[in-house]
Amino acid sequence: MTTPAIVTVAITGNVPTKADNPALPITIAEQVESTQEAFEAGATLAHVHVRDDEGKPCSDAERFAKLQEGLKKHCPGMIIQFSTGARGGKGNERGGSLKYRPDMGSLSTGSVNFSTRIYDNEPALIDYLCEEMLKYDVKPEIEIFDLAMLYNAAKLIERGLIKAPAHVQFVMGIPGALPAKESVFKFLLSELGEVLPGATWTAAGIGRHQEICNRWSLANGGHVRTGLEDNLLISKGVLAKSNAQLVEKTISLMPEYDRRPATVDEARSLLGLRSAEDASTQAA
Ligand code: ZN
Repeated sequence: MTTPAIVTVAITGNVPTKADNPALPITIAEQVESTQEAFEAGATLAHVHVRDDEGKPCSDAERFAKLQEGLKKHCPGMIIQFSTGARGGKGNERGGSLKYRPDMGSLSTGSVNFSTRIYDNEPALIDYLCEEMLKYDVKPEIEIFDLAMLYNAAKLIERGLIKAPAHVQFVMGIPGALPAKESVFKFLLSELGEVLPGATWTAAGIGRHQEICNRWSLANGGHVRTGLEDNLLISKGVLAKSNAQLVEKTISLMPEYDRRPATVDEARSLLGLRSAEDASTQAA
């Protein structure tokens, strides 16, 4: 029997630009269109950032709300996850969009040095984001950039700030953070089993590591993430034409591992989220 895998598409991110890949969706209209194509290709979870009129990353809550409205209309039932990442804004404003009750929000449970900057997530900010997510019934996706963040997540569960079972994502292949190495991946998985038993998980490989992280996840019962936020290329030296093309590539790997893309209902049930019907009728 094939086991369903949730396909996350990270459509835009904070870093890439149209100069890097013209297919990168920046405006809300482009984001909705690109996500719809990815949804039709089999993605069931959209991880989204918003950009301002100049295309720069921002945390504008109204833009998140508009994007959510478009996605609910054009991608019925798809799980919507807002980024609360550090490049989008400063301090508590990073959680300003959570009041619109996306199904999920990203949550980093620690800080790490990237190659040229600190990815800073202060303890007080992490607590604040957890409280906002609890208040608005938003499930966190715990972003693991380093081992300590797994242990920090367990502490947050102990303190009642995150509900178990948690959903975590291992982010691998960012210079300065976790290397995309199979031995590291295996170690993280065994730690996860001990520290957060029953958690669901995804591994996101950045840049050229995207496919191998997809393969490790599929082989080990995890879920997968793809999209232009993490990787601009469909193969060495060739720009991806769309987010949907990356989704198709990830799904094409699945039969080798006896996996298939989860449906919207399966994905929601695997993550313990409200049903697609409840999500669509809920007022923002
Ligand atoms: Zn992101």
